[in-house]
Amino acid sequence: MSTFDVAVIGGGAAGLSAALVLTRARRQVVVIDGGRPRNAPAAHMQGFLGSDGLPPAALLAAGRAEVAGYGGRLVDGEVVDLRADRAEGTHARPGFTIGLADGSTLQARRVLVTTGLRDDVPDIPGVRERWGRDLLHCPYCHGYEVRDQPLGVLGGGPGALAHAHLVRQWSDDVVYFADGRTLTADERQQLVARAVGIVDAPVTRLVVDDDRLTGVEVATGQVVPRAAVFVRPRFAPNDTLLTGLGCATRPDGWVVTDATGRTSVAGVWAAGNAVNPRAQVVTAAGEGSAAAIAVNNDLVDEDVLVAVANFRLGLPLPGRRPYSLT
Ligand SMILES: Cc1cc2nc3c(=O)[nH]c(=O)nc-3n(C[C@H](O)[C@H](O)[C@H](O)COP(=O)(O)OP(=O)(O)OC[C@H]3O[C@@H](n4cnc5c(N)ncnc54)[C@H](O)[C@@H]3O)c2cc1C
Repeated sequence: MSTFDVAVIGGGAAGLSAALVLTRARRQVVVIDGGRPRNAPAAHMQGFLGSDGLPPAALLAAGRAEVAGYGGRLVDGEVVDLRADRAEGTHARPGFTIGLADGSTLQARRVLVTTGLRDDVPDIPGVRERWGRDLLHCPYCHGYEVRDQPLGVLGGGPGALAHAHLVRQWSDDVVYFADGRTLTADERQQLVARAVGIVDAPVTRLVVDDDRLTGVEVATGQVVPRAAVFVRPRFAPNDTLLTGLGCATRPDGWVVTDATGRTSVAGVWAAGNAVNPRAQVVTAAGEGSAAAIAVNNDLVDEDVLVAVANFRLGLPLPGRRPYSLT
């Protein structure tokens, strides 16, 4: 079985950024990736300084090449099992055994989980088909590209009204689809005051012509012409590997990490959308980098402990003899 200093589970922006830092720190690193980054449906990735507008796959291809160039091992596969190993009486902290869907296993001293999240979108015909194309969620990612166009916001869910007010920043032609939910007088007034149109009837489908969203059909049979529609999905973290290890969660169910991504379980870090629904690509990459530095520091601490214990036992020094003036 192969043993690594660090196993990075998830090879999106967070995982590859971490792996780049760790391989450059001369750690033995494996990145195991299922190949389903969250932004895959989008043609372009916006808002990443220096790479604005790059296809998402191009960023990841460049990141994979960089990690491989420093000796990182990239494994295409799905991790289905993650277990903490038992202590074996050494000064090294026990590591982890990682089981893949193909039945293979790997071992690592530390684990960084960067498995992203799933966007749960409303079950309305057309929504899944247009997801990431002209059915959008993040105006910071795509708002500029549809600026000044007739936009819609699918309502009904938590945060949808706030989303409509946000999207209004990019266009003065925004319609809020209440989708059958009754608005309070205050909510209605706020929308009217910002010249946001309101359609109360339930939404029946997104209308698509020639592979392009052209409108939103409501239960009355009327179609409201729109060029793009925003929705606020429910974010579901891919965190079963973390919770399975016993990582503590907040009252909202998300796994707790500190500023470096350290979880409550020793040796386990997490970064990116797996633990932070707000992380953009650049944020996820930054969190991955910060976690990598913390993981490496933790490994150095352990390396010192082990070296001193071995030294006291009179075992040979690792590497060459230390420099000495005498
Ligand atoms: C349609 C859309 C468009 C977007 N556009 C933008 C944009 O323009 N700009 C921007 O900044 N942000 C954008 N985002 C947000 C962006 O997708 C996230 O910020 C980013 O993907 C987070 O990176 P991550 O590494 O945390 O997760 P991801 O990129 O989702 O990577 C997680 C990886 O982990 C893998 N994985 C999951 N579970 C396992 C497992 N058990 N074993 C092995 N691998 C596993 C997945 O297959 C995936 O490859 C967009 C999001 C969506 C949905």
